Amino acid sequence: MIKSIRDIDLKGRKVIIRCDFNVPLKDNIIQDDNRIKESLQTIQYAIDNKAKVILLSHLGRVKEEKDKHNNSLNVVGKRLSKLLNKKVFFSDLTRGAELEYQISLLNESDVLLIENTRFEDIDGNKESKNDSELGAYWASLADVFINDAFGTSHREHASNVGIASHLESGIGFLIEKELALLEENINNPKRPLTVILGGSKISDKIGVINNLVHIADYILIGGGMSYTFLKAEGYEIGKSLLDESSLEFCKDVLTKYKDKIILPLDSICTSEIKDGALGFYAAKDNMPKDMMGVDIGDKTIKLFKEYLEKSKTIIWNGPVGVFEIDAFATGTKELLEFMVSLNVTTIIGGGDTASAAINFGYKDKITHISTGGGASLELLEGKKLPGIEAIK
Ligand code: AMP
Repeated sequence: MIKSIRDIDLKGRKVIIRCDFNVPLKDNIIQDDNRIKESLQTIQYAIDNKAKVILLSHLGRVKEEKDKHNNSLNVVGKRLSKLLNKKVFFSDLTRGAELEYQISLLNESDVLLIENTRFEDIDGNKESKNDSELGAYWASLADVFINDAFGTSHREHASNVGIASHLESGIGFLIEKELALLEENINNPKRPLTVILGGSKISDKIGVINNLVHIADYILIGGGMSYTFLKAEGYEIGKSLLDESSLEFCKDVLTKYKDKIILPLDSICTSEIKDGALGFYAAKDNMPKDMMGVDIGDKTIKLFKEYLEKSKTIIWNGPVGVFEIDAFATGTKELLEFMVSLNVTTIIGGGDTASAAINFGYKDKITHISTGGGASLELLEGKKLPGIEAIK
């Protein structure tokens, strides 16, 4: 069993919590604070249990000095302070005597947020390459380590794997919830289990398909990735997304699992992906040569609904169309609307599908929306997550 924050004595001890505060920012203004809110339960628990709380997180991409300005966690500290209704101290340093002094001043139940872990990437990718000196240094600042950043748990970074190898460690409530819901519904689902896969990059999902063909009852494939499958079946796909290098894989899996893999019957096509573009209907054997498929058509929506209707568990990863553009969002919207009307377990694997579900207003009607696109995809592939294995 993996140790949880509940299994560890926190009182009076310095506790580093690795959170996922990687919120979308525009001109240093937080666009969506969902990730901060998802972290509150663990932070509040540590406060209530009289820990000296030290928070670490990454934010955005930081490769050069100039990236620092737009990726400071200072704004997150301010929002967190409002949400916790409590002062949150902030250190604009990721190491050094001043930071150590700030930590030495912490009383029980105080909270200190340390600046973006990726500032350590400017000089040799120390955070992202799990530099052993950096992990040991951060660990030296505390007595206990709690990993609650599900979104980075598929990565081997200094701020998760690095620290965990030096300290008594456990997982927080967010990771606990993610693992319980994702692993349970992958390993022991109520059946039939139907998986909807979409999005643009088929290469990202080969591992998922290879694993899920043995687990799922049905795999419904839509979005850009479906056209490589249709091409493998011999259909003309016009200018739709094609990943030549995955054609053989598609042919092979279609031959072996024909009854399990359900492909679109029709598409909405366009000549250009842009706001205001018009969509044209095309059956799968009638795709115009100069157009690309950008959404599933009516017949496919109806077919996919028939499979969803007979399912007890639905896991969805990747939109079935270019949902960011209204005219091509119908398939994704209709399937979401239908899915939440069913009284079944529904899981969304983070990333773009999570944004679609939240933007279209279905957040509270879905059993679980994962906070980690990449991490949940790796769980669907049947892989172990290094950030979680390190805690074990
Ligand atoms: P991924 O990161 O592979 O999950 O892909 C997500 C992206 O796939 C979203 O931005 C969608 O707009 C895009 N997408 C979905 N369907 C299509 C399509 N038929 N053609 C091009 N892009 C698509």
